[in-house]
Amino acid sequence: MTNIIGVLAIQGNFSRHSERIRELGHKTLEVRRADQLSLVSAIIIPGGESSAFLKLLDPELKNALIDAISAGMPCLATCAGIILLAKHVTNPAQESLGLIDIDVVRNAFGRQTDSFVTEDILLADGMYAMPEACSILPPNTNAIEGVFIRAPRISRLGAGVRVLASYAAEPVMVAEGNVVAMTFHPEMSNTCVLPHQLLINMANREN
Ligand code: GLN
Repeated sequence: MTNIIGVLAIQGNFSRHSERIRELGHKTLEVRRADQLSLVSAIIIPGGESSAFLKLLDPELKNALIDAISAGMPCLATCAGIILLAKHVTNPAQESLGLIDIDVVRNAFGRQTDSFVTEDILLADGMYAMPEACSILPPNTNAIEGVFIRAPRISRLGAGVRVLASYAAEPVMVAEGNVVAMTFHPEMSNTCVLPHQLLINMANREN
């Protein structure tokens, strides 16, 4: 069976994620209703504005997302997505789904005008230890590019959370079980395909 990768499409940068998945040769489905989750084998929670996500996420879809991800559906969360999945959120404090054991501080790198692109996101031991990553690691380098846009900062890592990549000696991409989450936007970089490939490989392993 060909895996269909779902993209939560209620707010934010979902269409760039869908394009990236299609560029990598896989089908996508933009998920807007709870029943659509049964059609996908992985889910992407895009960046955008996490407070708007919370307003727009109806309780049925929210509960279905919590159930699917808790039951092991591979999940890739970026920027506002990592804020949505964290345990505790500050600056300002807001509700979150608690699906990865980290705390985050919103907007920790400054305002929209402080957004930046970097090629210096360094892959860490956790990435090299992932069986789903070994066939897709970039050759001859341990660095990937990413775009930080009003990005959050990870302020606490739970004991079961592995660091997959760091920037300026801080964790910016982490994983716990089936959840991979990052503070930057890989879909805004033409070269940063590793996170999406990783999700596709995780989905393939599930089936
Ligand atoms: N600052 C946004 C928030 O707090 C996230 C920004 C983004 O996803 N690029 O939700």
